[in-house]
Amino acid sequence: MSTFLELGLNEEILKALTDLGYEKPSEIQEKAIPQVISSTDDLKAFAQTGTGKTAAFSLPVLQLLDANSKSTQAIILSPTRELAVQIGNNIKDFSKYMKGVNVLTVYGGANIDEQIRGLKKGVQIVVGTPGRTVDLIKRKQLKLDNIKWLILDEADEMLNMGFKDELDQVLEVTPDDKQTLLFSATFPREVESIARNYMNNPAEISAGQKNTGSDNVSNEYYVVTERNRYPALKRIADANPDVYGIVFCRTKRETAQVADNLIQDGYNADALHGDLSQAQRDGVMQKFRNKSLQILVATDVAARGLDVNNLTHVINYKLPDQTEAYTHRSGRTGRAGNKGISIALITNKEIGKLRPIERKIKKKFEKKVVPTGEEICKSQLFSLIHNVKETEVNHEQIDTYLESIYSSLEGLDREELIQKFVSVEFNKFLKYYSNARDLNDVERDRRSDERGKSRDDENMTRFFINLGRKDNLNPGKLIGLINEQNITNNVEIGQIEILDTFSFFELDKNFTDETISAFTDASFNGRNVNVEITEKKKRSGGGRDRRRGGDDRRGRGRRFEGGRSGGRSDRSSSRRRDGGGDRNNSYDRQDRPDRSDRRSSDKPDRSAGFGRKRK
Ligand code: AMP
Repeated sequence: MSTFLELGLNEEILKALTDLGYEKPSEIQEKAIPQVISSTDDLKAFAQTGTGKTAAFSLPVLQLLDANSKSTQAIILSPTRELAVQIGNNIKDFSKYMKGVNVLTVYGGANIDEQIRGLKKGVQIVVGTPGRTVDLIKRKQLKLDNIKWLILDEADEMLNMGFKDELDQVLEVTPDDKQTLLFSATFPREVESIARNYMNNPAEISAGQKNTGSDNVSNEYYVVTERNRYPALKRIADANPDVYGIVFCRTKRETAQVADNLIQDGYNADALHGDLSQAQRDGVMQKFRNKSLQILVATDVAARGLDVNNLTHVINYKLPDQTEAYTHRSGRTGRAGNKGISIALITNKEIGKLRPIERKIKKKFEKKVVPTGEEICKSQLFSLIHNVKETEVNHEQIDTYLESIYSSLEGLDREELIQKFVSVEFNKFLKYYSNARDLNDVERDRRSDERGKSRDDENMTRFFINLGRKDNLNPGKLIGLINEQNITNNVEIGQIEILDTFSFFELDKNFTDETISAFTDASFNGRNVNVEITEKKKRSGGGRDRRRGGDDRRGRGRRFEGGRSGGRSDRSSSRRRDGGGDRNNSYDRQDRPDRSDRRSSDKPDRSAGFGRKRK
């Protein structure tokens, strides 16, 4: 393996690297640095997050740029504000002994005038998020006609986040003779197409295998029922007392709920998702970085750009829709030479989702069983003993009390003392987990869920409504419509079934009369609404699904019993949400995958608030 000196870097840079504690180049640095220093060819680099990409592209640029010229010579595009800021700061650290080198980071949600003033001073390297970069180009404040280097960092992420147009716009205004360096952890079609359209015969390098997970990460899965997902998460956290990890959820609503539950259950946790303001996000990230938080519950987009190297675990509370996202999630652990564990909590139905991921990461998932109460108590006990052993005694604070402490404990021998001290801490775990259920008997839990559902059914009245998919009704709109009738606060809404021309919904049976009278004068998109009580479907031995599947497909009109008029049936269940305004939207907004980082990174975030009840 080479040294940084052997890669051809100058003395100022070498000195800065020594200050940063970089002793040896990482694989991607070893390959990229000499390539960019010695050749003006474009470069396509396959590199996972956390492999040292930032130094790989910025050190050769620093080495080659003209510090005497104040014109912008390099533009680095990065998907999120956090990543951009991190890259900008890294470059400042790398160039601290170089005279006359100026770096500016530009991103949305921050004062543009200040950024314009910064540009006017003359900066050789600009790091930016795509939206703000385009904005500055359009305002003619950022001139890229003389740049020598265009760097696309995490190109796959930028495209995933919908920045294709912005990338095209930036690429259009840069000179043909620039050198383009494209770094990406994955190379889906969209990234290949950028490379094809905008790069000339690029050289290719890769650190680790393309599209594969890090070698330092072991991948594990636990089979749970839907109901046991959260208890299983808690058990995994309890069985790993030193857990420092990210729990990934698919939607903002789920993220907020899981975080709220963890906080209520006494864990050091918080949520990070796109509905938080930038200041709130910064606050949460700061707390996580300095380990005041042990568990961060996050959506994929919100966790991008979070630069933490020593995570012990990544937990997929739910697997992502796209297999590529799994690589990004698991790549948050096992960084900078550390080992990490990536866990997937899956139901029986989701087992099929593992295979495509295994193919992508070229590794097998290992099946694990949810720890029993006894196992958790054991690991907590040994962690406690370890902490006792490692704790330094602060004599200055404690010495004055020791005399009286000794005399209070007089008569207890060493064994008794140890037993009592350990029990003070440990009894709460013993109590919590005494008689704890085995969460691995998925079949038993599924049956008990079914019994629970049938009890739920008994508390619900099933209603027919004369609106269906053809009236543009969906579960969200139906919930909105129910809410608009002001039946009562917090009425429980049960199962919803949307069919083509009519639908069914269940509501708390204590409000049956109120529901009928509330809907008397209701209308939806100009149509009079008719709501009637309908008989509950009879359960035929097995689960819910067996009750469905009548023969409405043949179009025999209204059927109250098990009718299903062809195609998909939109099912949902929710609790009534209070408060005025656009209730339908609040349902949709929080349940869809969180893509709002794009907004909060590059445009002011106007949607602060959800899920921030506590802090
Ligand atoms: P990056 O992939 O650029 O985000 O880097 C991941 C982490 O590894 C950052 O915290 C870097 O500071 C650190 N790092 C990068 N290169 C080296 C190196 N050669 N030696 C030690 N740490 C490094």
